[in-house]
Amino acid sequence: MSLLFAPPRARRLPLTALLTILALPTPHAWADETSASAPAPLPLAGTAETSSAPVAPAPAADTAAPRPSLPCASPLLDAVLAAHERLCHAGTCVPEDLAVLDAAVDFLKTCAARQSAAPAVDIADPTPSSQPSQSTRPMTRASRSRWIFPVSRMRPVDSMGGPDGKGYLKNRRVKCYATARAGHPAHDLFVRDRRQSGRDRQGRAFEALAVEAGYVMSVKRGWTEDGGAGGNYLLLYLPARNWVAYYAHMASISVEVGQRVEAGESLGVIGRSGRNAKQSRSPTHLHFAIWNPENNWMPLDPYSLLRNAKTIGD
Ligand SMILES: [Zn+2]
Repeated sequence: MSLLFAPPRARRLPLTALLTILALPTPHAWADETSASAPAPLPLAGTAETSSAPVAPAPAADTAAPRPSLPCASPLLDAVLAAHERLCHAGTCVPEDLAVLDAAVDFLKTCAARQSAAPAVDIADPTPSSQPSQSTRPMTRASRSRWIFPVSRMRPVDSMGGPDGKGYLKNRRVKCYATARAGHPAHDLFVRDRRQSGRDRQGRAFEALAVEAGYVMSVKRGWTEDGGAGGNYLLLYLPARNWVAYYAHMASISVEVGQRVEAGESLGVIGRSGRNAKQSRSPTHLHFAIWNPENNWMPLDPYSLLRNAKTIGD
């Protein structure tokens, strides 16, 4: 572990100072918003742009599905998208932006622990039961398990770019956060589509799946052709490992910030959004990266987890 990648975390601001910067209420105020009674969905950044976005139609389930429960929604997470855009796509390193991401992870870690500790509640019968339900299953480090491959119906051996995981190129020049200005600290996971349609021979789209249980930390919708490299993307916090997963080049995203997802749950449809991903030279793929907040948000290589992941979908 290089000392270069583990600087003292001097950027960490007192939470009260951060909230002042963000003009957010105090933790006491937003703690109420994360209780078992789900708050109304937060307004989504980029919502106004979605109608003009060149993305595939969202699955019918998007509109037919009931409104998701958002157990870890918070105004704190609203600040993540702008901070991430500056750090990852504009390439500017502002300590306050890293502090926003740190605060978001701290918040989600606490929320996940609280969710795990809460007694299970049956929606039809809101009396706490003695058995933990799937939605409140503890997500501790002890619950780490084999991953679900993040592309539906694709086997790792057929999907992962580069032989033996060589698609992951360590970024030796990272000075701040996970910018990919040199190297490619991620895996590209390809689909088998026809004429770059994003669909297989049966006309079925490929879904991006949660590799393990997590909480949606940020969602970027409304990418346009002059937009950023990541296209439509989402950040998924994984409490069992305290990592953050980055899913980029999505066509559509069907989850909301603060939502809990289970391992294998669909996050949306894989597409071709993103400055390079839209080019015809680029086969349709999911750009999948893992960042470690405990190591200054440096990317890490999840090759063995992906290679041994279980494929689901038929
Ligand atoms: Zn990539």
